[in-house]
Amino acid sequence: MQIGDLIRRAGRQYGAAPALVDGERVVSFAEFDELTDRLGHALLARGLEPGDRVAVLLPNGIDGVVVYYALAKSGLVRVPLNARETPHEQAFKIDDSQARAFVGTGEPPAPVEIVLTDIAGMIADAPAGPCDVRRDPDAPLRLAYTGGTTGKPKAVVLTTRSELAEVDNFLVDLLPNLRPDSVMLHAAPITHGSGAFFLPHLVKGAANVIVPKFSPTAFLEAAQKHRATTTFMVPTMIGMLLEDPFVREADLALERLCYGGAPIATTVLQRGIDVLGPVFTQLYGQAEAPLAITCLQPWEHTPDRLTSAGKPYTFVEVDIRSTDGRSLGVDEVGEVMTRGPHTMDRYWRRPEATAETKEPDGWLHTGDIGRWDAEGYLHLLDRRHDVIISGGFNVYPREVEDALLAHPAVVEAAVVGLPDEKWGERVTAAVVLRSDAEAEDIRGFCADRLAGFKRPKSVEIWAELPTSPVGKSLRREVRDRMLEAREDA
Ligand code: AMP
Repeated sequence: MQIGDLIRRAGRQYGAAPALVDGERVVSFAEFDELTDRLGHALLARGLEPGDRVAVLLPNGIDGVVVYYALAKSGLVRVPLNARETPHEQAFKIDDSQARAFVGTGEPPAPVEIVLTDIAGMIADAPAGPCDVRRDPDAPLRLAYTGGTTGKPKAVVLTTRSELAEVDNFLVDLLPNLRPDSVMLHAAPITHGSGAFFLPHLVKGAANVIVPKFSPTAFLEAAQKHRATTTFMVPTMIGMLLEDPFVREADLALERLCYGGAPIATTVLQRGIDVLGPVFTQLYGQAEAPLAITCLQPWEHTPDRLTSAGKPYTFVEVDIRSTDGRSLGVDEVGEVMTRGPHTMDRYWRRPEATAETKEPDGWLHTGDIGRWDAEGYLHLLDRRHDVIISGGFNVYPREVEDALLAHPAVVEAAVVGLPDEKWGERVTAAVVLRSDAEAEDIRGFCADRLAGFKRPKSVEIWAELPTSPVGKSLRREVRDRMLEAREDA
């Protein structure tokens, strides 16, 4: 089966029903099938050949989705760029992926052979009829760049096989109740996590509604207007939403607010459940294992379990291993490993990184540290590379950030280790406040909650914290800025 087959069948089965909505623009299932066919033909008519990489830089909206699935139907390989990245970062992806074409509204950030800016014109001039380039299930379908938080980005190669398995995982575990009257609200960029919700909804005849740019107001308006049943947010967005004065009054139809992509503070999660009800569904995944390693179902969000990332998806293997590769049992701390048909084939042109990350038998090193509890729930401690070692003790920044976020004045927190002569590394925090507070008061607050070696030795108050284009807090950047300030001083 190919991705195009799913679109064609949805076009036949759900015809005139709305498949995509963006403001006033509505595209039906039949139209979506036709638009993607036409654009697929148009791309091939420009001289592109199956397997060529095509970089795409478009605002969050319908055109982006049409381009993505036209590429799927024409055998081309999608390389999404993000509008919030710098031109330099975008150019890196174009070079690294050896993109032959660029589709976007303006100039490409790096030279490419074919530049396509007039999507509507291309569609209008192209022939109708199925565009159906059959691709090897293990050939690249799209490249997903990752590693913005840990250095130079690498592209994860995802294939038709992995994409279909991802849809399967979602339908089985995350979204088991989708119906034609379900509505997915894309509040986050479809280039990232939210995009994974598109196909599961499409195949079940449900509409995908796109908000061009997230704000709590835009989200609440669209969610009410379209009676959204599903949405996806990264934790920062949930935090912002809960700060909105109108969130309690909104008349929402949400059945599942899926969240993941980064750790969430238990205080934020509990507040979210109090305000929005038992709709929270956590997913833990990564670009290498797209959004599916474990999930925590709405009914599993009990107070004692809010620190857990849930249980493995039905068709995904998960293991926690010691540094020497032994499978660990309850409460033993080690690296989370995973295996499944949805995981990456390899890193694009990075055989060494691939060999470090993927074992020959298919098990992936996630780089996350975790442990199982006695009921089989996974608890993530932190990224392997972010663990701070202070006075010989391991400090997991996430635990310290959680303690800081419990302080009523703290909205955001990032905890990093700075070099320290005495301790090796010293635990240091940067926080953003919602109301006045003194750094000393916040440190005192931590003293009641954290063992001495985990307590921040200093707390800095910042106006804002650096985040990645998808809203993840960037500890590395926080650490770099602190080190620079130290040098200046
Ligand atoms: P990315 O590949 O950029 O999507 O980042 C994936 C990483 O984000 C994972 O390896 C985890 O470290 C983190 N992450 C994703 N989902 C969760 C979650 N539900 N809880 C905690 N951390 C998460």
